[in-house]
Amino acid sequence: MKNFDLKAWVRPNIWALKPYSSARDEFSGDEGVFLDANENPFGRKNRYPDPHQRALKKALSERNHIPVENIFIGNGSDEVIDLVYRIFCEPAKDRVIICPPTYGMYEVSANIHNVEVVRVPLTDSFEMNIDEILAHPAQCLFVCSPNNPSGNRLQNVERLLEEFQGIVIVDEAYIDFCAERSFTELLPQYPNLIVMQTFSKAWALASARVGIAYASAEIIALMDKTKPPYNVSRFNQEEALKALSKPEKHAYRVATILRERALLEKELQRLPVVKHIYPSDANFLLVEVTDADAIYHYLVSQKVIVRNRHSVVRNCIRITVGTAEENKILLQALRDYGNGNENL
Ligand code: PMP
Repeated sequence: MKNFDLKAWVRPNIWALKPYSSARDEFSGDEGVFLDANENPFGRKNRYPDPHQRALKKALSERNHIPVENIFIGNGSDEVIDLVYRIFCEPAKDRVIICPPTYGMYEVSANIHNVEVVRVPLTDSFEMNIDEILAHPAQCLFVCSPNNPSGNRLQNVERLLEEFQGIVIVDEAYIDFCAERSFTELLPQYPNLIVMQTFSKAWALASARVGIAYASAEIIALMDKTKPPYNVSRFNQEEALKALSKPEKHAYRVATILRERALLEKELQRLPVVKHIYPSDANFLLVEVTDADAIYHYLVSQKVIVRNRHSVVRNCIRITVGTAEENKILLQALRDYGNGNENL
């Protein structure tokens, strides 16, 4: 977007917000007698975490060659989504665009904030309808790429970055499973771009709740002043740092998941219950089956839990790629179903 004036897109109360100043903002050294934050002097978990997540941002900055002032750390990327609404969307006034079928929190968060949602559905091949998106004025546009639940990386995002008049949030939760490059490379060109990533998927840290936003220093400063001061616990910051210190483990796990995804796809294709498998750039497969509701309930009865997406994509289930062992159990259950042994 050309001639972007950030202030014009930010809620006036947020622009004017004087943030909470925590005890750790006034003094941030490591050594001293700390009597400033009403903490308990006993124990080893007694201190508040770094509200600015400095060590984690530094490690991410070094890994991705992105300056620390362009990095925000959230309590999962769900917190980033929530902050986008808090910062940019005036309740009962502004609108956002989503492209279903897509990740459900964009719409839930809009409902929480009483922000209108304009749905511009993806095409049958799960691509964005760019002209229709551009025909709707809106404050924000959520682009999930690779998309959940379809699994594909979306085309023509750059055209939207050029032409959409508003904030574009590109959700790259699954980017590490995809051969193409991250949109973070385009941040210097697009001041209206926010790229979200997460430690929940390729970094195997869903329990820690650590999400990331990359954006202009001005947008990151708005996120930092709007978030709760201690939004990411010390333990979660440390877990993310530990994961970043072992890039080989991350690469090995991603490679294993991709290999398993290919195997799973090949085996699924042989099953009579499988009608179509959508191409995936993520750690899951969207699979059209003969009867998604029946197969979902049958799999649950076999203690194999997949995601039934029939309500959003007809007769589709979404299967996360598991370990080799888990995938074998799933495949065997589906073979038994196909063989009429479902009551075994
Ligand atoms: N974005 C997408 C596309 C997702 O699928 C998910 C989780 N399933 C999230 C964001 C949420 O990630 P986090 O765990 O970082 O909140």
